[in-house]
Amino acid sequence: MTKIGIIGGSGIYNLLDLALINELPIETPYGKPSSHYSILQSDTNQFVFLNRHGKDHDIAPHKINYRANIWGFKEIGIKKIISLCAVGGINKSYVPGDIVFPNQIIDVTSDRHKTFYDDSPLYHIDFSNPFCPQLRDYFIKAASEINQFVYKSGTYICTNGPRLETSAEIKYYSLIGADMVGMTGMPEAVLARELELCYASCAIITNFAAGIKQQPLTVNEVITTMKQSEAKLNILLKQILISINENNPCTCNNVLKDASIN
Ligand SMILES: [Zn+2]
Repeated sequence: MTKIGIIGGSGIYNLLDLALINELPIETPYGKPSSHYSILQSDTNQFVFLNRHGKDHDIAPHKINYRANIWGFKEIGIKKIISLCAVGGINKSYVPGDIVFPNQIIDVTSDRHKTFYDDSPLYHIDFSNPFCPQLRDYFIKAASEINQFVYKSGTYICTNGPRLETSAEIKYYSLIGADMVGMTGMPEAVLARELELCYASCAIITNFAAGIKQQPLTVNEVITTMKQSEAKLNILLKQILISINENNPCTCNNVLKDASIN
């Protein structure tokens, strides 16, 4: 069984032109994940895909059962999770269609369940580098192998949604170092780390964040950019799948060892 999982977001549903091998309905101690887990086959790899917003895109970012989604991957035996996400560009260098591999997170979400360790044993995991460095290296290598221009780092700020941000908020986020804004990176990233899974994001800039350009934001803009970028993302994702050695151990797989105070 494959050890690679992919969790996909807004507008990414049609990205994967692959054969469906099986669908796994998983129940977890935290409730139901967003949908079934699909086992998909590409030319070279098998992997498990989960739609984070549900099959019909009807689960809002603040309502996603993040703990169930990540737990389900662990239960299936996944070791490395590739997160595909649509984000708004804050960094003025970005234009819609650009691909970024974020390396940092600022979390401004609230009222989300952000840990598996509410009770004993308590763990305070190291989260200095919230995205798996090894997976990020695979992403960067894959992009370079197909000569795909990408931004190799950037800070992702996670907002609660579902509304988009105000221009003043985006100005503030820019001042504190954010390059892109999304609504699902947290607590997804921390929950994966808490279960000792590798997790890294491939973010596509689908729009300018509020106030970056003088035009109102529309969901259509996000969908249109995603459609235009599908081919590019597809090629990159296939190369990433070829590049990853799914059996390569990583520091993420041992984070709990030094994280308990009990
Ligand atoms: Zn890792």
